[in-house]
Amino acid sequence: MSDVTFSSADLTTFTRLDELGLEVVGQHLLPDRAVLACRVVDPDEWCRRCGCQGVPRDTVTRRLAHEPFGWRPTVLVVRLRRYRCTECGHVWRQDMTKAAAARAKISRGGLRWALVGLVCQHLSVARIAEALAVSWHTANAAVLAEGRRVLINDPTRFDGVRVIGVDEHVVRHEALLFRMEVRDLHRFAVAAAG
Ligand SMILES: [Zn+2]
Repeated sequence: MSDVTFSSADLTTFTRLDELGLEVVGQHLLPDRAVLACRVVDPDEWCRRCGCQGVPRDTVTRRLAHEPFGWRPTVLVVRLRRYRCTECGHVWRQDMTKAAAARAKISRGGLRWALVGLVCQHLSVARIAEALAVSWHTANAAVLAEGRRVLINDPTRFDGVRVIGVDEHVVRHEALLFRMEVRDLHRFAVAAAG
């Protein structure tokens, strides 16, 4: 550790929001949650209809659940610019699909955290929802969709697999439902679930 070179403390990289195209510009820390004010780094000033340059018109905000740090939910309040085209009058919002899908309530970093928590740490959906400060249904739907996108729909998921294990466990005791996962034991991957 004595040879480690430290860089300046930086909340944006600590929370991995740089990977999502965001920059943290403010924080509001509460005992039960951390709220981070963010801005979208990349400008988006070219009209999607006619290609002419737009001018900033106003700003709107969007709230997203992000991965928790120290089990304290992290909420992002992202400020987005709205532009108006100088030629055709079209109005659009700054693109932030790198940070979250359209209409999503959870950031891409939050989804990744939730999926790892479910698959690798065997967290319940209720625990994930609590850590993200979202409803059970929001967490469940988002994690299922992300799991399908990342794990099940990946045609290369068997590439490099050497050992496959079958794990069967009770999902809901009261209904005696069993879930079976076929899992690559050497990597983070669920090959199939049913
Ligand atoms: Zn235009």
